[in-house]
Amino acid sequence: MLNQLTISKLAAKLAGREVSAREAMQSCLDQIERVDGNIHAFISHDAADALAQADAADKDISAGVQKPLLGIPIAIKDVLAVKNQPLNCGSKILGKFISPYDAAAIEKLKSAGAIVFGRLNMDEFAMGSSTENSAFGVTRNPWDTMRIPGGSSGGSAAAVAADECIASLGTDTGGSIRQPAALCGCVGLKPTYGRISRYGLVAFASSLDQIGPFTKDVHDSATLLGVLSGVDLRDSTSVPQPVPNYIAALDGKIKGLKLGLPKEYMIGGLDAEVKAAVDAAVKKFQNLGAEIVEISLPHTDYAVATYYIIATAEASANLARFDGIRYGARIDGNDPTELYSRTRGAGFGAEVKRRIILGTYVLSSGYYDAYYLRAQKVRTLIRNDFLRAFETVDAIVTPTSPTAAFKIGEKSNDPLQMYLSDIFTISCNLAGICGISIPCGFTKSPKLPIGLQLLGKPFGEEMLLKAAHAYEQNTLWHQEKPPV
Ligand code: GLN
Repeated sequence: MLNQLTISKLAAKLAGREVSAREAMQSCLDQIERVDGNIHAFISHDAADALAQADAADKDISAGVQKPLLGIPIAIKDVLAVKNQPLNCGSKILGKFISPYDAAAIEKLKSAGAIVFGRLNMDEFAMGSSTENSAFGVTRNPWDTMRIPGGSSGGSAAAVAADECIASLGTDTGGSIRQPAALCGCVGLKPTYGRISRYGLVAFASSLDQIGPFTKDVHDSATLLGVLSGVDLRDSTSVPQPVPNYIAALDGKIKGLKLGLPKEYMIGGLDAEVKAAVDAAVKKFQNLGAEIVEISLPHTDYAVATYYIIATAEASANLARFDGIRYGARIDGNDPTELYSRTRGAGFGAEVKRRIILGTYVLSSGYYDAYYLRAQKVRTLIRNDFLRAFETVDAIVTPTSPTAAFKIGEKSNDPLQMYLSDIFTISCNLAGICGISIPCGFTKSPKLPIGLQLLGKPFGEEMLLKAAHAYEQNTLWHQEKPPV
């Protein structure tokens, strides 16, 4: 079935005129029709618009146009602006807002020829690890619909895993690409901070947010990273670093590669089956010629606390704009203060409110020095831990998540337990480095995917993709399909 193909396989069939873009798009739409009532990866999608884009791609293909994503259906997390489409960020507060413009990442997909379609479900404003904090209902894991798909980009991961699209975009502020990719059994890449323009991405925590791809294999991840990367004057934090040919890095040459194993990551809460799968993956790397080195990231213990101070502080400032005046939903009041509080009181969900309150508190005078300022200092220590490690190793291997997918409702009443599940992914964002999650096994009963995380130097995506690809090509995990 066409919807099950990778970008590279579908692109070859489209270029060879074996199939049309319309047929490919239709097979994704059929799959959505068949499974999304159960999975709920999509908040909405416009089938007529997607098919019209497919017809335009077919015209281009007939005219001999060549573009890296021509006619490939790619679905989008509901936090990225796509012109003339709804933009809700998984929240009620944006009401019936329609994006007036395309995000930079969307412009890039469109100019590479992709069919950009659908709004994928997410935790409200990307705050969460389970997609239970969406105003549009929970997304279910295609491997076991009693379980969460991870978050906050749960819709992006579930849609790729259930073959409802060929690939998707998500965002990662503290793990929101890598963790759902791990829990749904696909490949999720968080590029280095500054690699991809954030123009048109609704900000959660501006110093941590990055856009990245969800794909069915590592080759597709390299393809999408190449399309999405590059400096953009509309995002002053994007970096004018040349964009390498990421596909060329996939040469299988990992002999002599030095992989670091952080001793601080073997924590008590690490599930035994996850540990066994990661240990086996490390052995596999060794068999492929990599050298394994134990390393230390001494400030790991402080990462979760540091992240939840910095991310909430930035969120409290970023979310001030949703005031009922500028955009979306409004509940009138007798004066502006009443209008703001009614609108925000009704528009934001409990987790978003919790974070705004926490973030406002850590920035308030009297507490700023004790919390926010100190967290910034610890953030530098965490970044330095990584930079020091990368003096001796090429990449770092860890589990992506301490457990496989948990049950819907299992952690939603205990925010602290939810926050702790981000332990392995958060430091990467604080340090501004890059990371990828790839499938590395399954739990036995129920059968749930396990993810392996590789972390790389700033702008070291080539090395990450090279190592991830070599592992993938010597294992079969990525070929397994969920029972949907
Ligand atoms: N789970 C983390 C949080 O709740 C990370 C979310 C993200 O990366 N957007 O903040």
